[in-house]
Amino acid sequence: MLTRQGIFFVLTVFGLIAINAAWLIPTLRNTRTAASVFSLTVAERIQSEINGSLENALTDAQEAAQEVADERNAGTSFRNLLRHHAIFTSVALVTRSGKELIRIDRSGKVITDQYIDQSRNASLYLALQGTPAFSLPFLSPEGEPHITLTIPIPAAEALFNEVLIAELNVQNLLSIIRSPNIGQGHVYVLDREGTEILQPDLNKILQHRNFSSRPIVTKVLVDAAIADGLAPDDRYINEYGEDTFTVGMPIPVVKWGVFVEQPRSQALASERQTIALAIGTSLLAIIIFLVIARSTIKLQQLTEAQTRLLLENDQSAKMLVRRDMELTGANARLLELDKTKSEFVSVAAHQLRTPLTALRWSYQAMLDGDMGETNEEQKKILRDGLQATLQMITLINDLLNVARIEEGRFGFEFIMQPLEPILAALLPRFEKIAREKSVTIIFQPAPTALPPLFLDAEKIAIVIDNLLDNALKYTAPGGSVTLRVINGKTNIRIEVEDTGIGIPHDQIHRIFNKFFRTTNAMLFQTSGNGLGLYLAKNIVETHGGDMFVESTEGKGSVFSFTLPVGKAS
Ligand code: ADP
Repeated sequence: MLTRQGIFFVLTVFGLIAINAAWLIPTLRNTRTAASVFSLTVAERIQSEINGSLENALTDAQEAAQEVADERNAGTSFRNLLRHHAIFTSVALVTRSGKELIRIDRSGKVITDQYIDQSRNASLYLALQGTPAFSLPFLSPEGEPHITLTIPIPAAEALFNEVLIAELNVQNLLSIIRSPNIGQGHVYVLDREGTEILQPDLNKILQHRNFSSRPIVTKVLVDAAIADGLAPDDRYINEYGEDTFTVGMPIPVVKWGVFVEQPRSQALASERQTIALAIGTSLLAIIIFLVIARSTIKLQQLTEAQTRLLLENDQSAKMLVRRDMELTGANARLLELDKTKSEFVSVAAHQLRTPLTALRWSYQAMLDGDMGETNEEQKKILRDGLQATLQMITLINDLLNVARIEEGRFGFEFIMQPLEPILAALLPRFEKIAREKSVTIIFQPAPTALPPLFLDAEKIAIVIDNLLDNALKYTAPGGSVTLRVINGKTNIRIEVEDTGIGIPHDQIHRIFNKFFRTTNAMLFQTSGNGLGLYLAKNIVETHGGDMFVESTEGKGSVFSFTLPVGKAS
């Protein structure tokens, strides 16, 4: 099936052909007519010159023949004839048997008693029937082309016993047919039998070539019609194999024909140029059409692709909106769950704390001997129980703090106050633990006095407590822990440096995550819940500060945090 473009293309091609045909056909006709008119003009001029020349000669020769018949004074008549017509080179009176009774040439010499060369004068017999006849061309001893004209000497009862034979020098006629300027074409003259009498090449004339098989020759010689070269049978392939454009015209007086022959390629050159022009313009038009059609199709395809893309975009946008809504919903559900979880943790922790506290004091009381004496073995069991209970209480406290801070009800109370008392209150406890663990603890206070800070002392105490607790917990005996306070311009920096186990490089980025513990820490120290640092970071950030860590596994860590100076967050 043809597409719309296809139909349009076919219509355009047909349209182009029709338009071209509309101007091409008449133009081609005009071109041929012009070529025909030109050739006919040439033929007509030559025909009239030859016809005129021969007509005079023939009439005068016939008159001379009549005079011979009337007066029997051939010598005088022939001399007059020779004087009047330069075309005759000799005139003779010849008997039926071919014997020359008298011959007179241009010098006036009289030659008699000679037999003529009958091979040259086949026309003798024609003349003896009563018809003037021309012979085929031959060369005179001087090398000039001649033909003979044979005229019967009128006699009573049409019994012709004698003929007048005149030799004609046709050199002059040759000049006539050589004269026109028709490029590669030429003019030739055929006698009534279709044999070549005249043509520009003398050698060819002597070959007596016969062209009677050409239809155009029949038309001119037999029908005595003018051939204008436009009829299909006027066209023939000549002896050189050339396709010709030829016109022909009879020479009535002798019933010969003159033909103007040109190679078709030359005569109708403008015709070919016109056709080439028509084809060229058509092709150009088709190419332009194709280019336009192609661009149109491309454009259409592009537009389609664009529309498709826009549609896809639209669908993607809709999908994104849908996903966004789904995510928002899911997030809301998650927040809801998170809240429920925090509430659960709070409630559970509260519920656990009371019996655990009771348990702690029971262990303590038993260890203190309030319930009677206990032996060493019993004391060890009680100490382990107390230790486990304390760990549970720490966990419960941390869980409660985390839940509170996440729910935004940690109860921060910011007061402008100095930092030193908080440190002073904490240090003795850690010095004691350090001693017990054989770890050196060093305190490096700020070299200059610290400005008061806007902070919640209890919460900051939780942060420092956690950092010192970790440092001591993850440092083996013999190591050291340094607490350093650095007085900066815009903030105070508190650093806790230890020479402990350090943090593996690939885990350091998760160190402040809830419940995260490093693999080496879990091996080194079983107790721990991974909530302390999470809580500490949250507290510091609520104060408008930042928390940092630098560590090398196996060498130690530096945990630090900043607190802004003079800023109420
Ligand atoms: P935990 O109760 O486990 O100490 P934290 O939140 O305080 O919980 O610490 C989280 C984890 O960070 C610890 O389990 C440990 O793996 C690592 N960590 C904290 N402080 C140090 C430190 N000073 N040296 C090495 N690892 C530490």
